[in-house]
Amino acid sequence: MARVYLGLGSNLGDRLALLREAIATLRRTAGIEFVDASRLYETEPWESEPGQFPSRRDWYLNCAVVIETTLSPHDLLERLQQIETRLGRERPAVTPEAARFAPRTLDIDILFYEKRVISVPDRLQIPHLLLHERAFVLRPLAELAPELEHPTLYRTVRELLEELEDEHDVQRGDYPARWFED
Ligand code: AMP
Repeated sequence: MARVYLGLGSNLGDRLALLREAIATLRRTAGIEFVDASRLYETEPWESEPGQFPSRRDWYLNCAVVIETTLSPHDLLERLQQIETRLGRERPAVTPEAARFAPRTLDIDILFYEKRVISVPDRLQIPHLLLHERAFVLRPLAELAPELEHPTLYRTVRELLEELEDEHDVQRGDYPARWFED
């Protein structure tokens, strides 16, 4: 079994229900064992300037999740993309760049897959290429794995968070700690 950290986010529709459904789906997926999830964070859209969206209705709800899996990194990515699609992610048919930053019902990123380093440009980069630049990823992840070391930056998650210069607001949401359980 490989230990894998995921980043989940949603900023459209019933965000809490979507993230709960995503966890429920992970629990049911063959080859995946759900281990734990962080608290939920309300986060300012990273694609905007800090302060551009004062209303939290436009913000994302984010969390980090740890799973154990027998799936290979590519098979896992495929399965996660099926979950994104099934839970209704909208991918507008515009330019790839615009689609990347469009609001999404559900986004699931593979942050770390054991200590593996994988680089298949435009398809699969592990560790996730931007995780060390994003407070909305590092804050929840630091709850689950503060001492996890990035295999190419040689910094722990806690150190990456301490050294981070990301002005976007990230607030712990007012949700139960075990928000993902029935
Ligand atoms: P996003 O818009 O952030 O969901 O990015 C989706 C695209 O990123 C997909 O085409 C994936 O193939 C690619 N991708 C590259 N590395 C990763 C990763 N570590 N986790 C998830 N998607 C990835």
